[in-house]
Amino acid sequence: MTSDEADALRIRLTATQSQRLRELGADPLVLDELFSDAAERDAAFKRMENELVRSGRERLRELRKGRRAPQLVELERTLSDALTDAGFVRVVTPLIIASDSLRKMGVEHGHPLREQVFWLEDGRCLRPMLAPNLYTLLRRLDRHWTKPFGIFEIGPCFRRDSKGASHLNEFTMLNLVELGRPTEEGRVRLGELASLVMRTAGVTHYELEVTHSEVYGEMVDVLVDGAEVCSAGLGPHPLDGNWGIVDPWVGLGFGLERLIMAREGYPNIERAGRSLSYVDGVRLNL
Ligand code: ATP
Ligand code: MG
Repeated sequence: MTSDEADALRIRLTATQSQRLRELGADPLVLDELFSDAAERDAAFKRMENELVRSGRERLRELRKGRRAPQLVELERTLSDALTDAGFVRVVTPLIIASDSLRKMGVEHGHPLREQVFWLEDGRCLRPMLAPNLYTLLRRLDRHWTKPFGIFEIGPCFRRDSKGASHLNEFTMLNLVELGRPTEEGRVRLGELASLVMRTAGVTHYELEVTHSEVYGEMVDVLVDGAEVCSAGLGPHPLDGNWGIVDPWVGLGFGLERLIMAREGYPNIERAGRSLSYVDGVRLNL
């Protein structure tokens, strides 16, 4: 009998068992394990379930002792410290923005992102991105500060993204932008800043890919195992005129939950985001 034939006789976890282990945060690889009979399978399931429940409880105990903050908060803090050390200035801007600022970003009727906006009354909406606010601040701070200078914001963004394993309706964006370095340094600087963020987030394997975006034209994406964690762009850009920006810039937008997913190997973003089912990545129905 070949090993393939032998495997064909072996059995897998039941759908309910797989689902339970996935929720508890099992490594996706263990879900593919094969067993010679139901008794062996059920015993292995019980062992894995007990171990995951134990480590989940341990994590919750640590959290209760106040030894650390949830992953999302920790990541926000370490990124904020690293960028501040690198000379960037943190800013905090409104979550509610005017529809006009989306228009100035080129997000108009017919634009795919337009369909994902949570609208409020009076032509205002929950921000789907940080770029419009940062464009405004760059222009206003340019009157006070000598260039080059950099600013960043870390905070919630909202999109009616089709629910999937890597999209949340509310997620946390880090957007950093540096104004006023010579254009010819842009690409290298973009790589340096991507590397700083990825290193700080604890994600060592990633690649850069040049793509085309509706909003920014030519863009560079940062991918981890093929999954996008960041989109970055370079100015001068056609939209700059809408914002009164004339100098070159480099800007990068990262999703913090995507970075946590990549670092922790989570198959589902829900575990990394704002949630009532998970606390600090631990499923509560342990
Ligand atoms: P995707 O193609 O994966 O939907 P995007 O290209 O529309 O993402 P961008 O506008 O480039 O997203 O936003 C910058 C970053 O914000 C993304 O690289 C991603 O890390 C994060 N992000 C965007 N939308 C979501 C979402 N719905 N949930 C979680 N993170 C998101
Ligand atoms: Mg993108």
